Formats: sequence, C-alpha cells, structure tokens
Amino acid sequence: MGLEKVKNEIYRCFRCGYCREMIRDLTNTYLVCPIREELRFEHYDCRGRIAIAKAILEGNLEYSDKLVELVYMDLGCGLCKEVCPMFDWAKVDFPRVIKAWRQEIVEKGLGPLPVLKEINELTEKYGNPFGKSKDEMIRWRKGNPIPTKGETLYFAGCYASYRQPEIAKSTVNLLTKIGTPFAMMNDEQCCGTPQIWNGQTDLAGKLAINNVKAIQEAGAKKVLTTCPGCYLAFKQDYPEYVKINFEVQHITEFLEELVDKKSIEFNELNKTVTYHDPCHLGRFARIFEQPRKIIENIPGVKFIEMLRNKENAWCCGSGVVVAPAFPELSFEIAEKRIKEAMDTGAEILVTACPSCVTQLDIAAKKSKAKIEVIDIVELVERQIKK
Ligand code: SF4
Ligand code: SF4
Repeated sequence: MGLEKVKNEIYRCFRCGYCREMIRDLTNTYLVCPIREELRFEHYDCRGRIAIAKAILEGNLEYSDKLVELVYMDLGCGLCKEVCPMFDWAKVDFPRVIKAWRQEIVEKGLGPLPVLKEINELTEKYGNPFGKSKDEMIRWRKGNPIPTKGETLYFAGCYASYRQPEIAKSTVNLLTKIGTPFAMMNDEQCCGTPQIWNGQTDLAGKLAINNVKAIQEAGAKKVLTTCPGCYLAFKQDYPEYVKINFEVQHITEFLEELVDKKSIEFNELNKTVTYHDPCHLGRFARIFEQPRKIIENIPGVKFIEMLRNKENAWCCGSGVVVAPAFPELSFEIAEKRIKEAMDTGAEILVTACPSCVTQLDIAAKKSKAKIEVIDIVELVERQIKK
C-alpha cells in the first residue's frame, strides 16, 4: 500500500515548520532533525520530506536513485512528531510515513539500498543480520547452561547476542542474582526490526510468526528484552502479523518494579552519571522515568540530564538503517550526542539499548571522550548488593 496508506499523515501537515527548530527558552534554539542538522537542506527534514511524499502521491514527481537514497537517509527517530504542534492524535507521524514509503520502494523493486538488501539476505539465510552461526549466538553461554523452556523468557536479540554479549551476560547474571527463574532459546531469530524499517515487510512478517511460535513452544508467559528494537517490534509491529498471547517487558520496566518494591538494593557509586534515551524506548514506548528511577536509586550517584532529554532526546545516529547505509553521517550524529554527554560532566553515559551502546561507544572512542558508555543492565549488575 505504501504512501497511499499514510495519506492522512501527509495531508495533515500544514507546513508550520515547527519540526525544523525547537525553542528551549528565549535565547536557545536548536534544530530538531539530526539529518538536517548535519546536511542543512530542507528536503532532509520532516516538512521537506512530507512535501516530496505529497508530490509523489499526486504524480508530480518520479522516483530516482537520489530520491530512493534520500528516503533511506532518515533515522525515523520521531523527534519531528514530538514537536509537531497538533493535538496528540493529529501529530504528523513521520516515522509511520517513512516505514510505508520504504515499503512502497521495495514493492516497486527500487530498493532497499544494496547494503540493506544484503542484511535482509543474511537474515533470511542465517536468522540474524550479521550472517553469524547459531553457535556464535550461544558461545558466551558456554559453561552456564540456561533452560530453554520457562514462564519468563529473556529474548536477547541479535545486537546483544553477537555484538554486545556483555549486555546479555550481565542480564543473565542479574536475573540469577535476583533469583528470577528464566529461560533463553538456543535458536532465537532476528526480531525483524531491520526489515520493518527497511521496507522488507514480508520478511519481517515471517520472522514475527517464527519468533512468536518458538516463544509459545518455550512456554513463555512473559518475554523480557534488553533491546528497545525487539521490544517495540513485539509490542507495536508484531500484532500486524500474528496474535501474541504473552506479556512483553523491557528490562527497565522489570527492574523499576523491583526498585519500587525495594526488592533490590545497590552498593554506593560515587560517580556522575547521565542517561541517553533510545528513540525506540523513549519517544516510541514512552519509557522515560523507569531508567532514571533505577539510576537515581543507586546511592552516591550524581545524576545529570543532557540538554536534550526524554521526549526531546537526540538520536544516537543509528536509526536502524542509517548506521549500515551511511556510517559517516551516522557517527557525526553520535559524536554530537557524546559532546552533549560530556557537557554534563558525566563520567558514565548510561543507555538501555545494545545498539545505542555500540554506536555511542564507538563515537566516544573516535572523539577521544573520557566517558564510559554502558547499558543499564551492566550498571545494575555491577552495583546490585549480592
Ligand atoms: S524522524 Fe528524525 S530523522 Fe526523520 S525527519 Fe523526523 S526528526 Fe528527522
Ligand atoms: S511540525 Fe507537523 S505540521 Fe508543522 S511542518 Fe512539521 S510535520 Fe508539518
């Protein structure tokens, strides 16, 4: 269906331009769109892109290679939707537009971009976007056998399994320390987030059906994720393809409940800490307070917000498709986020997403920033009283 499906979003835009700049106070303004902040032209921000989408819908513009590239050069971060001045129900949902637009491009045989096509092929063949074997997925669990069936299932996702195994390990250690019985599957498949965002929705649907079937066979009533991408796919995208009969929780929701009940206590940490809101966890799932509550419960921590935080947080630059397709642009955005974190004086930058950790950690090292980038489960596992 493509753009036709999101026509109502496109025609609701009255070109006010709020999605170009945000005013913090009388003296302080900043650009809303990270891509436009880097590349400066109107066609990179939401208002410009909406005008292009409208021209295509009305038959006044033809697709070209440049135009296809432009459609993929978008983070889908949702900050433009956040600042759109309409009532909540009427805000122009640009991430919804970009997903439908890419779907149209794939249906017309014009996309995705070659590097994203390769990711889809690897996912179809190996069940993960990195083309790794199943053995590699469970390598970090060797010597620590975990049941494969149980009522609570930790779904680690591809990033934590293959790129950031420390996050998966910390989660397993943490659940063990807390005394929560849990299971993990030995043959997890990608949640389908890359395909949901690169337009290959037929593959996303297959992955959704396979994952839900496997989770049901594992006997899970609750699925815990450490990846906001997996979380959002289960909660918001899977219902389009398959019925879900289990609860899905992000680890920050789970841990916040324990903090609330005073079921966990922390050792002191005399450090300054800031927090980066992953777009898919913050703006998309409205999980803003839980991670902050967890961090602020650690005695000794001095918590400082970055200039752009919570619903106004700056994307890490990964944007599911931007990091693999436009790595330089992606890291320029990440380096800006690192600078914001450094401006707080923080020694530790905490986030709650294996993909954001990867992106921000590389950017911190590239810019020689003296800040440790870690996931919230790593912080909690380090500080929890045994
Ligand atoms: S979703 Fe993010 S990257 Fe895309 S137009 Fe909106 S602010 Fe820019
Ligand atoms: S803020 Fe909303 S209405 Fe205004 S230009 Fe952007 S998308 Fe259109």
